[in-house]
Amino acid sequence: MSGPAPAPTWVQVALNLPLRREFTYALPPGLAAVPGNRVLVDFHGRRLGGVVTATTATTELDPARIKPILVVLDAETRLPPALLELAARMAQTYGCSLGEALDATLPSVAKRRGQRRFPHLALQAPRDLAEQAVLELEDRHQAQSRVLRTVLEFGGPMPVLDVRRRTNTSDSPWQTLVKHGLLRKVMVAEELEELVPALDEAAVRHVLNEHQERAVAAIVARVAAGQHRTFLLHGVTGSGKTEVYLRVLEQVRARGKSAIVLVPEISLTPQTVGRFASRFPDVAVLHSGLTDSERGRQWQRLLQGRSRVAVGARSALFAPVQDLGLIVVDEEHETSFKQDSTPRYHAREMAIVRGEIERAVVVLGSATPTLESIGKARRCVYELLTLPERAGAGRLPKIVVQDLRGEPRESSRAGVVLSRTLLAMMQERLQARDQVLLFLNRRGFAPVLLCPGCGEAVKCPSCSVSMTWHSRRGRLVCHWCCREKRRPETCPTCQHAGMHELGVGTERLEQAVKERFPQAIVARMDADTMAERGAHERVLGAFRKKHIDVLIGTQMIAKGLDFPDVTLVGVVSADTGLFVPDYRAAERTFQLLHQVAGRAGRGEKAGTVVIQTHCPDNYAVAAAAKNDYDAFVQQELLFRKQLGYPPFARLLRVLAEARSEGEAQRLLQRAVVPLRGLADVEVLGPAPAVVGKVKDHWRWHMLVKCFLPASFRTAMDAIGTVEDLGTRTCRITLDVDPGSLM
Ligand code: ADP
Ligand code: ZN
Repeated sequence: MSGPAPAPTWVQVALNLPLRREFTYALPPGLAAVPGNRVLVDFHGRRLGGVVTATTATTELDPARIKPILVVLDAETRLPPALLELAARMAQTYGCSLGEALDATLPSVAKRRGQRRFPHLALQAPRDLAEQAVLELEDRHQAQSRVLRTVLEFGGPMPVLDVRRRTNTSDSPWQTLVKHGLLRKVMVAEELEELVPALDEAAVRHVLNEHQERAVAAIVARVAAGQHRTFLLHGVTGSGKTEVYLRVLEQVRARGKSAIVLVPEISLTPQTVGRFASRFPDVAVLHSGLTDSERGRQWQRLLQGRSRVAVGARSALFAPVQDLGLIVVDEEHETSFKQDSTPRYHAREMAIVRGEIERAVVVLGSATPTLESIGKARRCVYELLTLPERAGAGRLPKIVVQDLRGEPRESSRAGVVLSRTLLAMMQERLQARDQVLLFLNRRGFAPVLLCPGCGEAVKCPSCSVSMTWHSRRGRLVCHWCCREKRRPETCPTCQHAGMHELGVGTERLEQAVKERFPQAIVARMDADTMAERGAHERVLGAFRKKHIDVLIGTQMIAKGLDFPDVTLVGVVSADTGLFVPDYRAAERTFQLLHQVAGRAGRGEKAGTVVIQTHCPDNYAVAAAAKNDYDAFVQQELLFRKQLGYPPFARLLRVLAEARSEGEAQRLLQRAVVPLRGLADVEVLGPAPAVVGKVKDHWRWHMLVKCFLPASFRTAMDAIGTVEDLGTRTCRITLDVDPGSLM
């Protein structure tokens, strides 16, 4: 006879550590836990938060040596089973530990529970004193100088985490500044900023055109059937994709189901987010500006089903919604969907996995789908839906390719090339009181400061890259480690007097445009000018109200903007990304050109795009100029197949970083051994990375390439874990489907 099953007394706990196993703890009498519960445990004397993955009645370990769970956190922050499963799949796919994957699925409030307010830095000293201190600290305490200036520029209490991220510093610089009375730490309870970006346009509910109708019907049919299916919605810019998502969402909600909408970066797509928020008042917008407590509240609302639509960037994929019916990945080609720290997951791929787990429909939308996605759509892995023309009033713009090779010398003034064609059109459009966007994907004044005597460029002392000259700040800046330097009067190598500013960044372009059009109001939008709190909304608002005539920007202005009076878009150089040593250089160039061009002619008025280039015959540039996605894809697929790159193969990048170059190299030479001789596993390298040194660490890498999914698994298993490979002095990164090869 068997009695009642004994109560589970042991639990398996996953910890956020790079250790690919779970740990057994004892459940003291009176405490209950189920998988998904969050717990606090003692791990070698450290108090760590973890997630229960299983409970058992027996254990093979010596019970006397098993430590008890310290605390079981309340059920409010318990992870639903579907998210536990998603985390497990994520760990398996990207070779991280389950604890690391679980950590990514939790909102930070659950991780730092009880802490309802979070630390900000504010100015303590008077402004002029602080400004003076920035200069004084610069030579001997550069990190402090950078931190102080960043808080000064922000102009209000700034979250400590943001300060650290923006200045690439640890805690010690700000702590020293606090100790010296220059800054003060304040605990801010609530973010003052608005939750939902302001929206002036009414949320018009258009009568759908036939292509939109067909797309909505196809998607809704699958939602109604409760079947998992992935759709690729390929629609030219302005074809009404967002309208399709909105209609499908109405249907999803009418069926009592929930939805998640992923957008690239909320700060860059305020208009899109605003449209969701105005159509559905109960939307939970999950953006990085939220405080922990605000984020926690949104999480609760979703968990309890009080909110049925979550809109957010990458991590909104883990929103704990009930009865998931739909996941939309808008602008699926965007690189920001790949996380560039552990776990290095791709939100698009994980959205599909979550869709499988919860039998939900996934819709990937883009005007320029990635080769991976269009490839799968053509092989019928995804269902393809197309919106071939612009909806409503807008027409696709006319595109003019301006070959810069024939341009006379006079077109170039102080290094900035503005062709006669572009200048004449700017003149005309400005006279008509229309608005102009100028796109250049490079910030700063000049990317290189070069000695005309010996040809040496000023390099970052810690990284193997040249430093960018930022003229308004009056400093050379390393875009890899944020280090800054004063401009040398003479060449540091040969003492030649007078350095040359080589190349053009947005700052230099702004100066040139202001000189050419002194009557026009010119504004610039890039990471440098957007450092101030609320700057983004301010500039976009002013542009909407037509207080700005010419808006110059980096890729920040390439996406999601919809302004009816923009009738001219100038691409100052189509070539900046073309020669990057990455197999996706052409694809990225095509996507960017196509997206930027899509900003023109969105209203009643016709739009024109001028693309300046030295490579008019390059197939990516030529296809973008003809608005010909299919031609580009055909050519590019051919190259990828010949060279054996994705989507035909899958890549794993293994990166080693160490203070000694020899060590990084040796470590990879050891790591490659178990891969030798494996069938269908090709290894490129080990070799020095393109950027061979960052922050005084030498970088070597290798690329592991497989054509079959099974061999990729074998290769991942053979290479082992970060824990097996790395040492105390050499850091190893495993990156599946790497976003960057630099
Ligand atoms: P996309 O997301 O593909 O760039 P949007 O959904 O933003 O396209 O639509 C582009 C513009 O066309 C928007 O101003 C939108 O309000 C409008 N629009 C969308 N669908 C229709 C329609 N069926 N009829 C008229 N206008 C539409
Ligand atoms: Zn550097």
